[in-house]
Amino acid sequence: MKIRTISMIVLLVAAVATLPLPAAAYVRTVTESGASTAWKTPCVTMEFSLGAAPPELDAQGYLSAAQAAGVAWSQASLDGVNRCTNVILTVVSVPDVAGKIGLDYHNRLIFRQGQWCSDPLPKDGSCNDPSALALTSVFQNTDTGEILDADLEVNATDFTWGDYVAHPEESDAQDFQGAITHEFGHVIGLSHTCFSPGGTFADGTLIPRPTDNQGNPVPDCNAGNLPPIITQATMYVSVATPSAEFELRSLSPDDMQAACDIYLFATNFECVAPSRLGSTSDGGCSYSGPTGRDSVAGVLAILALGLALRRRRW
Ligand SMILES: [Zn+2]
Repeated sequence: MKIRTISMIVLLVAAVATLPLPAAAYVRTVTESGASTAWKTPCVTMEFSLGAAPPELDAQGYLSAAQAAGVAWSQASLDGVNRCTNVILTVVSVPDVAGKIGLDYHNRLIFRQGQWCSDPLPKDGSCNDPSALALTSVFQNTDTGEILDADLEVNATDFTWGDYVAHPEESDAQDFQGAITHEFGHVIGLSHTCFSPGGTFADGTLIPRPTDNQGNPVPDCNAGNLPPIITQATMYVSVATPSAEFELRSLSPDDMQAACDIYLFATNFECVAPSRLGSTSDGGCSYSGPTGRDSVAGVLAILALGLALRRRRW
């Protein structure tokens, strides 16, 4: 605990030196057991099934956009004058176009076309909320919070996707890079900067109101007059216009602070694979396996469904 305090002070000094605004609103994802989630070491590779990409952009365009979203959450973008983190989020193209959501140690980025339904379907057989642009399911050790696997599904059934910068005239297209940048924040362990009450864990208990990194209760998303530090974060819950969605591409100082706080810079850094099932089982830890997706995605799917990155019609 003491070490953590010292580290945070050091980081705070670094942040003051490199960031233009104070950062005090980010929210970490917490498991049913109260553990904050994070990768053991932040070398996360997302496997992008380009073969299923819808046609608004070409395959290379989607891959490049996803890679740029990963770069936003990587050390080269996050470090200021001083090194603050080792986190690297890379996106690679894979031929598998029909990957399933599950704890298989392959972090997938998949387009869902035809039906906005996860594969496999949840136990109740329901498809996803059509208002959700994308859905991130994170599989984690519920006791330690270690993230073991993260899968990202894009709703290409109810939405078209594009590149707002290259084609701002395509007013019906969602900005792919912006939305993916938001989802990647969930991949590394972040929740929204505001709270949508009513979500439940797998056992039916209500997800409690989280606290931000300063220990303050996170305000409701529908509360009026939320401060800019909340609404201008990439991890804010929604956007209203294509230009606002495009702005998700650029992390706010608060988002950057989150990544640097969670994944502290360390010398002699080595990437380590996530703990395997055997070790977590042997240790008596509970985790959310493939058949227990609800218990994990129960945390994140609900939060992601609250994402609501939809265009509001004014
Ligand atoms: Zn979200």
